[in-house]
Amino acid sequence: MRLSWRRSSNAEDRFEKWIAQQHQRRVLAGETTPSGPCPDNAFLRDLARRSPQIALSDPRIDHAASCPTCMNRLLALREDLRSRRQRVVVAAAVTACAIIAIAFVVGRYAMERTPSVGNTLAVSQTVNLWDAGTVRGEQPGQLQAVSLPAALIKLTIVLPRHSAPGQYLVAITRDQNGNGAVAEGLASTGVNGGQQQIVADIDLRNARAGQYFLSTTHEQDQAAYYYPLQIK
Ligand SMILES: [Zn+2]
Repeated sequence: MRLSWRRSSNAEDRFEKWIAQQHQRRVLAGETTPSGPCPDNAFLRDLARRSPQIALSDPRIDHAASCPTCMNRLLALREDLRSRRQRVVVAAAVTACAIIAIAFVVGRYAMERTPSVGNTLAVSQTVNLWDAGTVRGEQPGQLQAVSLPAALIKLTIVLPRHSAPGQYLVAITRDQNGNGAVAEGLASTGVNGGQQQIVADIDLRNARAGQYFLSTTHEQDQAAYYYPLQIK
């Protein structure tokens, strides 16, 4: 029922549009005779906007509907209104996109900012392994007592002598087999005073105090070296 009503309504719309187009064609071709003088621009603009202030009995409507000059002007005004409305829609869409983009960027910035706020509070610690054994499988000898606070740490590790340059994975683990890692960080070597050293960001904020192992693993040589470590 509703469908057929809609269909007939659509058909009516099409029919009315067709009549309007035929009428418009005749007016523009000068086949109609307008009565009275041309109304001013303000009236035509109101008419194009379908202002409710214009009474249907207004004789200027009759004139505009049969005068080629006024009809041309009306069509131009309608086109102008339509493109202005489109510009408003586009501007609104652009604004909405910009707001979403800004919200996204601000969100990302806030998310990235959170850990870096911690970074500014990172505790600098140095572990000197220069004299620690580097032979694979060899237990490190008398290593200086290494202890780190349970905090965000900028950890500088002076690697044992003869260590290869490159990238290292630094980990703090529960045992000497790499199990129970509580923190990890990647770092590349840099030479300082003839010694290879790496600086890694290690987050021990959630680590419980106790005995751990600090391990260094070279990117190509998968063997890890473990050194006893205490977290306070
Ligand atoms: Zn006219």
